[in-house]
Amino acid sequence: MRASQFVILGLGRFGSSVGQELMEIGCEVLGVDRDEEKVDEFAGSLTHTVVADATDEEVLRSVGVRNFDCGVVAIGDDIQASILAAILLKELGVKQVVAKAVTELHGRVLERIGVDRVVYPERDMGIRVAHQLTSPNLLDFIELSKEYTIAELTVPGCLSGKSLANVNPRGRFGCSVVAINKARGIVIAPNADDVLNEKDVMVVIGTNEQIEQFQHSIR
Ligand code: ADP
Repeated sequence: MRASQFVILGLGRFGSSVGQELMEIGCEVLGVDRDEEKVDEFAGSLTHTVVADATDEEVLRSVGVRNFDCGVVAIGDDIQASILAAILLKELGVKQVVAKAVTELHGRVLERIGVDRVVYPERDMGIRVAHQLTSPNLLDFIELSKEYTIAELTVPGCLSGKSLANVNPRGRFGCSVVAINKARGIVIAPNADDVLNEKDVMVVIGTNEQIEQFQHSIR
């Protein structure tokens, strides 16, 4: 099977980080930046790099962007360039276009022009860090909808040695432990008699309120 191919427009902090991680995963990455220094910096770690203006249609055509599986517009500060580059990727037929937005309005414009996925790295990381700072057991979370969340919670000492039946998050709060990540491996769909140990990680699904209440009870 051929490796997935990505074109990244803008090799700032976000674009270069996405590109390098994609390389780690085994994908092929073309990085484009108008700043020669940026291109030199990442030439050794991406499959191909080009010094070019990502808002120049001819350039995008000549590097064959339409043959890529996904285009990532990682230009933040220059909002006009970000929007133009996103429109061009869509018009040239890139199957999936992902773009970074720096403000809500920027994001709304990107959505309007048909960008498949708009990401807000600074805003989202700010929200994550705020939750992690105020919830010591919370490692990470995914919002499934406005109401439902999957959260990774570390098991505190006070729950160590207790079974799920003892802790009873479903009966007490309505949220369910769908997996327990232990040093020896992950237990998927654990039973009521599976035992928690300190530093295990519980994967919990429920409403935001149920998860908050459970977290609060184990602080
Ligand atoms: P970050 O916050 O991720 O570092 P920046 O907006 O600071 O994002 O960086 C975006 C990158 O995009 C910079 O390296 C800049 O040179 C590049 N860039 C900006 N406009 C264009 C453009 N029209 N064509 C190509 N690269 C661009």
